[in-house]
Amino acid sequence: MKTGLPYNIPINATEGFAAMTTPPRSIEIIDVGPRDGLQNEPEILDVATRVAFIGKLADAGIRRMEAVSFVNPKRVPQMAEAEEVLAALPDDDGITYIGLVLNRRGLDRALAAGCREVNYALVASDTFSQKNQGTTIEQAVDVYEEIAAEAKAAGVRCSLTISTAFGCPFQGEVPPERVIGLVERCAGDDTFEIALADTIGCAVPSQVADLFGAVMDIAPSARFRAHFHNTRNTGLANCYAAVEAGVQAIDASAGGIGGCPFAPRATGNVPTEDLVYMLNRMGIETGIDIDKLIAAGDWIGEQLGHAIPAMIGKAGVFPPAELRH
Ligand code: ZN
Repeated sequence: MKTGLPYNIPINATEGFAAMTTPPRSIEIIDVGPRDGLQNEPEILDVATRVAFIGKLADAGIRRMEAVSFVNPKRVPQMAEAEEVLAALPDDDGITYIGLVLNRRGLDRALAAGCREVNYALVASDTFSQKNQGTTIEQAVDVYEEIAAEAKAAGVRCSLTISTAFGCPFQGEVPPERVIGLVERCAGDDTFEIALADTIGCAVPSQVADLFGAVMDIAPSARFRAHFHNTRNTGLANCYAAVEAGVQAIDASAGGIGGCPFAPRATGNVPTEDLVYMLNRMGIETGIDIDKLIAAGDWIGEQLGHAIPAMIGKAGVFPPAELRH
């Protein structure tokens, strides 16, 4: 049938979707609000409030979260007292609290604190790496390899985040070959999972599909995670593209708290509750109680003293609770 449109629109949207894609039945959501979110908020929260936030996320069903950062507290005061936060958390085998480490000293602190998963961030852009971390990419890869081997020897899981994978605030476009090369080099026995991170929130879905497709080709047995900032409102669309590409996990922050250090007025990570709503309606299981998650997002907004960017709590979940069976 000729419709006059340049492409075919399926008559039944559900059938059309099923025919076009086979979405996974479940996906792991990592809430990064307690680290990436809070780190980029001007308000500094005390240990008890951070611990309470993590507890609310756990109660909502989040089983893996970025909880602390073992960086110099003088540089990142929001993340001070990582040891105290970890020590105050209930020792639950079912929940993984990830600690960010950027160097050997950070790893030593994480191991001493009993952290069971560390995440190292490597930058895909030379200029950013030099300006922000004071190292070349080559030097950072060397540090990562040492940290990953050391963590493995200590029985601690080590994940890698490749920052500015989709664009750099200083040099603009980042060549995909650079990201693919880093994945090829770092995907090995010592690496639990690799995240491609849109640190400044500039990615678009087609780019997400292409880049994840390429790294999955080069490292077919690796586990991949997506990390998006909603700086330019493409975050949720990028998550969808990442799901279709076949990532195993997605980072998000409750309430969408946080920000982008290179866009001072921008919002933070993709809001976890908005992401969970979308996935739920697509029939993709996350194991998360969306009502509790919305409450956790609202609560952290109150602690920070500002409205949260997340949308689903404003509009309400559809269908409303009384109409859900
Ligand atoms: Zn981030």
